[in-house]
Amino acid sequence: MDLAHRPVTLALAAPFRISRSTDVEVELVWVELHAGGEVGYGEAQPQDHYGESVASATDFLEQAEPLLGDDPFALEEIGARLAELPGERAAKCALDAALHDLCGKLCGQPVWRLLGVPRSSPPTSFTIWLGDPDDMAARAARVDAEGRFRRLKLKLGARDGLDVERVRAVRAVSGRPLQVDVNEYWTVDEALDAIPELATLGVEYVEQPLPAGDPGGALLRERSPLPVYLDEDCHTLEDVPACAERGHGITIKLAKSGGIREAIRMVHAARALGLGVMIGCMIESGLGIAAGCPVASLCDHVDLDGNLLLADDPWPGVALVDGVQLPSDGPGLGVTRPVGAP
Ligand code: MG
Repeated sequence: MDLAHRPVTLALAAPFRISRSTDVEVELVWVELHAGGEVGYGEAQPQDHYGESVASATDFLEQAEPLLGDDPFALEEIGARLAELPGERAAKCALDAALHDLCGKLCGQPVWRLLGVPRSSPPTSFTIWLGDPDDMAARAARVDAEGRFRRLKLKLGARDGLDVERVRAVRAVSGRPLQVDVNEYWTVDEALDAIPELATLGVEYVEQPLPAGDPGGALLRERSPLPVYLDEDCHTLEDVPACAERGHGITIKLAKSGGIREAIRMVHAARALGLGVMIGCMIESGLGIAAGCPVASLCDHVDLDGNLLLADDPWPGVALVDGVQLPSDGPGLGVTRPVGAP
């Protein structure tokens, strides 16, 4: 198989603030794999939080090319060879997505049919990024009025004592189902104070309240009146058993797992341990989101709004239908290469 890759920078529709960072643009790597007269596409969103960058992803892809072989259907064997190279999950995710896209195109089938999973999934949440309580409420009210989304995810963790007020302000203007994501910015005591109040405001679950690996995780699991979902604590299959000790569910992202194949292993491991399963995303184009859609159909909760936070999504294919991110019924990932792509 021939591999090509290129870095791309896309602008966000508005600055996106969470507990630890604010982004105005996103740096991605687009991957193309050629075999049998078809082209498979995939996208990497390297995570600086995990020591990845466009440069490190690009270096990895250079090293990975000779390990791919000639058979795109040999997914297990290719995955084992790539696993010999450490880290770089986002770049591995891009290759895994491109392989699935290629296999689907060679068979003339969408990836979701190839995997034998439903096309549709639970509705995606839309993320209300971190701001002052009034500002978050104003944005939530606008999203509510547009009527495109059926649930909202509120980013918390400002360390200003106002996180519960943020949720109260949004609840005053929106009756939608709510979830919150603290991105590791509470202590155990803060979490034990805030979560009961969030429960009275109708919040359904809390994502990553504590820092990854925080020793208070098991205590919070025992005492929290709301389910705790673990994102920064849970990257790949080997992280799932420990999550059963400190949470009620896991948040899978393809950029952390290294792709669709590992994500599906994680879903099944989580089910065996009695954990809930959510799929999230980074800020990605429709190409990245298209790879998440088939996994979303196996999850309880879906947060695949990354492409909808961009100023312009260059990869049409996934459609937001009645709040659900619905993949195309075209072959492979079903996305269309952008006109004028570099
Ligand atoms: Mg999260």
